Amino acid sequence: MMNDSALTVNNGVAQPPMVNPDVAKLFGRRQALPEVAEYVDGILAGNVVMLSRAITLIESRRNDHQQVAQQVLEACRPHAGRSVRIGITGVPGAGKSTFIETFGGMITARGHKLAVLAIDPGSERSKGSILGDKTRMETLSADPHAFIRPSPGTGSLGGVARKTGETVILCEAAGFDYIFIETIGVGQSEVAVHSMTDFFLLLLISGAGDELQGIKRGVMEMSDLIVINKADGANIPKAQQAQAQYQSALRLFPPPPSGWTPHVLTCSAMEKTGLDTILHNIEGYIAITKANGYFEHRRREQARYRMYETINETLQNNFYRNERIAARLEQVEQRVVRGELNPYEAAAQLLMVKHE
Ligand code: GDP
Repeated sequence: MMNDSALTVNNGVAQPPMVNPDVAKLFGRRQALPEVAEYVDGILAGNVVMLSRAITLIESRRNDHQQVAQQVLEACRPHAGRSVRIGITGVPGAGKSTFIETFGGMITARGHKLAVLAIDPGSERSKGSILGDKTRMETLSADPHAFIRPSPGTGSLGGVARKTGETVILCEAAGFDYIFIETIGVGQSEVAVHSMTDFFLLLLISGAGDELQGIKRGVMEMSDLIVINKADGANIPKAQQAQAQYQSALRLFPPPPSGWTPHVLTCSAMEKTGLDTILHNIEGYIAITKANGYFEHRRREQARYRMYETINETLQNNFYRNERIAARLEQVEQRVVRGELNPYEAAAQLLMVKHE
């Protein structure tokens, strides 16, 4: 227990229960979970075992777990926010895990604490867990200043994004001052990662033919830094060529609202070259956007975005989980497919079901 924690219990002073009595009753029966205050004290003291257990509660679908998780989150929120949140995206094979391993190691060697999280809902490649493969990031996994947490498995993107956002809060409260959120840049997940990070790094490799092929314009446009990885050996000239091509492609975009012009850099995650310049670039961005107010502005906009995302997700869940709707959905869908009912009329009918 941390002595300077506001949650420290003074001797002789009767304290109200930290846990809602109904929840406590549930725990009484199961006798498995620590109390909210134990989680919070553990997290604030930087105890990664308690941090992991609290994250497991966040990921749980059980109501009693969710209730405790929300109380732990509320207690941790005032201690959160003081980190640099970096989104890292790139197609499979770009070298994300190699990069996170070496770049992350450089960050912890400088005295920082680094948490690595992932957003990867329902990926076929990894069965929903891009960090689940134990061979990835072996050195960083053993680093006492790093905390690596796999993606919360399959689920809707909104659900995974919410859990990741809440996990960020807990990691920050536990003293992690650098947070990496990794995603594979092949779906909507990079939009979700962008919506919860301060800095968005796109990791690319040089390839034969059209350098810009396969990278969605939108992903490039939201990037604060593009890094061409695998700039080593015979690959160096190709990497430099790709760097020039992406640099000129970026010039076609309107100036970003951050007041920062995104750069294109090269590195070799394997040979550990170019990494200093990348960290320097990130630090430069943070310094400039903190000075011009964009850093705070972006976080406030993200809070707004998350509110609407949560509303949308809740409305959608309420709709599809409604038994009366579920009972009619397939039949109405079939009528639409057969051309017996127009899609707008069908949607209107289904949307009215709850109010009938
Ligand atoms: P991820 O799928 O994006 O996580 O990519 P990985 O980190 O698993 O890397 C994919 C392959 O590229 C592996 O065989 C790595 O050894 C290799 N690789 C990663 N970074 C580099 C690099 O900087 N140079 C070279 N030559 N190979 C690399």
